[in-house]
Amino acid sequence: MPSAGTAPPGAKFVGVQILRGGGALLHLNDEAAARWLKANMGDFLTRMGGTTVYKERLCNMVMRFVPVSFDPDAEGALGVVGGDNNLPEGALVKARWIKPLERRKPGQRVAHAVLGFSDPGAANRAIRDGLWIDSSRVYGHKLLSEPMRCLKCQRIGAGHIAADCTSGWEVCARCGEDHRTSTCTVTDDKRVCANCKAANLDHEGHGAADRLCPFFKDKLHYSLNRNLDAPYPYFLMSEDPSSWVTNEESGEAYVPNASAPARKAASQRDTGPKPVSGTTRGSGRSGAELLLAGSAVPCEEEKRVEGAPPRRPWMCI
Ligand SMILES: [Zn+2]
Ligand SMILES: [Zn+2]
Ligand SMILES: [Zn+2]
Repeated sequence: MPSAGTAPPGAKFVGVQILRGGGALLHLNDEAAARWLKANMGDFLTRMGGTTVYKERLCNMVMRFVPVSFDPDAEGALGVVGGDNNLPEGALVKARWIKPLERRKPGQRVAHAVLGFSDPGAANRAIRDGLWIDSSRVYGHKLLSEPMRCLKCQRIGAGHIAADCTSGWEVCARCGEDHRTSTCTVTDDKRVCANCKAANLDHEGHGAADRLCPFFKDKLHYSLNRNLDAPYPYFLMSEDPSSWVTNEESGEAYVPNASAPARKAASQRDTGPKPVSGTTRGSGRSGAELLLAGSAVPCEEEKRVEGAPPRRPWMCI
């Protein structure tokens, strides 16, 4: 372990990625270098001019069917969940509901939430075993970035949000006509998807926000195929070979809104350590990343190792 002030031999930056939220994702050549920089982040930021903020990269999970009695904003709520599940102190640092409270149906008892862990080991335990939240056992999966939909023009995967949209008019997410979605009066059975209509797909009976929309599913499929982190159900940890298992090996697959019992059964089938194969796993040549001042979910990196598969997702450090 390199001491503070002494960089590990050969440590260097190998790239920087500018994120949509304005942040920068720094890539270093190995984990030791990233650990050293993390330990000396105060000095690094001072030398960067003192105006840059370092943001810890969280392991974000979607937890399904969480009782709505859980209040993620209540003081001490995260500590209670941590205590009930015997998580390391401070491992759970963030929780929020996915949908705004005002969009809940009357009498709704459960909802999906995003939980952020600072400790990948704790997040992986939650993937394997679920979590007790407000006396209910809930299960979840790793949050993977999905194609964005512009709430103004409704385009999916166009790389912009409503605030940056250059369209001269608003398109309705419910009927595809040129008006604000909130003013739409069509009934659910009369919905028309603007994206599917433009793509000559089956566009009646669903809106642009529908997760079962063929156009969205196509974009999602494309996005997941390019996401180097998607083949792995767990947050990769260089020191924990059981986290290297792939969806294929574990019987897992990323299925949005998959039923909890099905995923639970799949995840229980094989969670033991896997033999190291190839030269990338546990080789000590893994990449390392540090996120500076941005809120976007950072993407994965790709490193090619001679004689090894090209895939090299990020690892939590
Ligand atoms: Zn737009
Ligand atoms: Zn409309
Ligand atoms: Zn559609």
